[in-house]
Amino acid sequence: MSDKTASSERARNLAAFVPSPPATVESAPDPTWSVSWERSTIAAAAHEATVFTLSNGYIAIRGTHPEDADLGLPGTPIAGIYADDRLGFRTLVTCDHWLGVSVRAAGRTLSPRGADVVAYTRCFDLRRGCVTRTLTWAPTPRAALGIETTHFASRAHPRLALQRYVIRGLRGAVDVVCRATVTARVRTRGEYLLAGHRTTRHGPGCTTISRTRDGGYRVARHAVAHCDDEPVAPRTEAAGAAWTVRRRLRAGQTLTLVKYVGFATSRDGGPDWADVAAATATGTAEHGFDAALADHVAAWQALWREADLVLDGDPPLQLATRYTVAQLLSHAAPEDDTVSLAAKPLSAEGYRGHVFWDTDLFMAPAITALAPELGRNLINYRHHTLDGARRNARRGGFRGAWYPWESADDGTEVTPRYWLRSDGRRMPITCWKYEIHSVCGVAYAAWDYYLATGDEEWLLARGVEILLETARFWASRAVYVPRRRRYEIHNVCGPDECHEHVDNSAYINVLAQWNIARALDTLARLRQTRPAAARALLRRLKLDAGELATVRRVGRRLYIPRDRATGWYRQFDGFEHLRFIDPATALERFANPVHAERTQVVKQADVIMLLYLLRDRHTRNELLANWDYYLPRTQHNTSLSAGTHAAVAARIGLLRTAVRFFTEAVNMDLRNRRGDSDRGLHGAALGGAICALLFGFGGLHFQEEQLVAEPTLPPGWRRLRLPFCYQGRRLRLDVTPAGYELRFRARGGGPVTVVTGGRRQVLRPGRVVRGPLQRPWQE
Ligand code: BGC
Ligand code: BGC
Repeated sequence: MSDKTASSERARNLAAFVPSPPATVESAPDPTWSVSWERSTIAAAAHEATVFTLSNGYIAIRGTHPEDADLGLPGTPIAGIYADDRLGFRTLVTCDHWLGVSVRAAGRTLSPRGADVVAYTRCFDLRRGCVTRTLTWAPTPRAALGIETTHFASRAHPRLALQRYVIRGLRGAVDVVCRATVTARVRTRGEYLLAGHRTTRHGPGCTTISRTRDGGYRVARHAVAHCDDEPVAPRTEAAGAAWTVRRRLRAGQTLTLVKYVGFATSRDGGPDWADVAAATATGTAEHGFDAALADHVAAWQALWREADLVLDGDPPLQLATRYTVAQLLSHAAPEDDTVSLAAKPLSAEGYRGHVFWDTDLFMAPAITALAPELGRNLINYRHHTLDGARRNARRGGFRGAWYPWESADDGTEVTPRYWLRSDGRRMPITCWKYEIHSVCGVAYAAWDYYLATGDEEWLLARGVEILLETARFWASRAVYVPRRRRYEIHNVCGPDECHEHVDNSAYINVLAQWNIARALDTLARLRQTRPAAARALLRRLKLDAGELATVRRVGRRLYIPRDRATGWYRQFDGFEHLRFIDPATALERFANPVHAERTQVVKQADVIMLLYLLRDRHTRNELLANWDYYLPRTQHNTSLSAGTHAAVAARIGLLRTAVRFFTEAVNMDLRNRRGDSDRGLHGAALGGAICALLFGFGGLHFQEEQLVAEPTLPPGWRRLRLPFCYQGRRLRLDVTPAGYELRFRARGGGPVTVVTGGRRQVLRPGRVVRGPLQRPWQE
């Protein structure tokens, strides 16, 4: 009998009599609350590592296996810890692999992919924000062990991570050696970006302090391990520590190992910053795992009380929606407004941890609607990085603030200047020079934050500066074309990255004009309410009357490529003269999207994105005119496209199409829809899916003086229940086939004017506003 046949036979035999191990963590019975996977495969390991990533906004723990770090990319990225890699490109550092545990029994080593693992389930328990695994391992035909693990990044204490590893004798008696490790020697994109590790023992724990490769930041972590509630003495290693426990386990006996790890970085500030790591780990260890888990679960319950979006009638979509909310909200930094969410949040190495427009227009609006305090941090990050954006503008020969296409610690442009082909050739990346719509994305996010929260204090203290500096950028970037007596914006790249050097992108020109108008309005408001503050701001920005007049003139006379009769936008000059080809074939024909530049292939929502953003400006017929034109030309060759299309389709009333796009967006990572989830979660798809629910199906539109609610419900969905916040009120929208109801779900804030189809009603605390659903469109 071959080894393989023998082990599969053993597996069959064992499966027949080994009782399933009692769960230490009671499993969530409702399948819409847990992502539960039965098997781990090598091929899907990196995808799984992304799906099972946990975060608390300060750190993230990739979903790799404790016993086998080769399955997926192990590590713990820490928000804001960037370093230059060997090519000189700014990169988010993957810090420690602290989950490591190796188990030996009867001369064999446990591997989750081993044939002697006869049962295996890994579960992301969404209610509690932890990952649990149960394995049944049969190291010999006569012995079986049950392994139950739980780990999490504490939502109650952001610098804290915990792991519990239980080994239970199920059958026979066997000598077990369990070795738990923490190490700071972890690769980021194949390279060690942390160096100079120094490990010291402190009582029952170990502290390791390292610095980033370029010396920019230092990272400290302190780890303590307990076995059956007693501290275990660590052995210090070059960049971490190890704890070894030996035990003979008979059926019914258990060994419980717990690791308490505290993190701190020099970004936290203060001379004693590193001590916080030790205080966090040792303080938690004193009270034990269960107490820390209880605090953590209470914090997750608080998250769900505010943000459980209910979608009745389609359990898989409900599960995907909860997963999406969990990942989106848990990755946002709760305490730090100098970091933001990267395109792949903190989940993996894709895009080097850089922040794109994905954050401003896809993630932030969803987060602000569900948890305004987290949304505020995201827009404050853009305020803190204004100086970097000013430097970008100066370097480019422009005025104001040029928010970079890719941003990291300080707002200077960090898009890698080239990528390395497999043959070593450097292929230049130039999109950052032209993809300047990042600038109006930030302005939009600032205004959106104000509309959603009504935070006028913020608008007049910080928002106004973002709006003015971005408006100034547009005024200096536009050119006057005397023969047409108008301003134009040349040589740009819109969201559709298939066309890199175009003139007068509708998306950019319309939003630049909108940006200028918001800036001037807000300045006028500041002048009226706080004249001294307005004067001080203009003095500080060195923005004089002459330049303001130029900004106003550019705003008034900027060319908008729109057909007045139908509301159709030309995506950019000459678009209609390019060749039409089926966008599906373009993927095979053009390896690089820009090679499709002579065709009408559109990579992702571009004009459609514009319609989505300026939702109060367009009638349904105008939406339809653009939809019918651009949809057959759109490739959806990014994760950003589906959510936007879902929202716009829902607003038009194309409900089946809307559900199709929503299903795509909300499953982007769970089902690896683009095949690249190994590179991390798609933050824009997470945010885009939630925006589709709130602003598409929910039909919500936050305006300054009133809330527009024009919801709809696709066939088959029984109910949507959408909690959200609007200008300091905590509201809830319930949508059923019979119509919608809107109510306060908590005290706070005065009455709200609600508008549906032009009809105004006043919603007061304790009362309900009802209305009809939006008419569906025949499909
Ligand atoms: C998209 C961009 C996006 C970036 C990061 C690209 O593929 O075209 O719009 O910002 O990915 O997600
Ligand atoms: C994306 C760009 C990005 C570049 C470098 C490309 O794949 O489409 O948006 O700037 O990678 O990160």
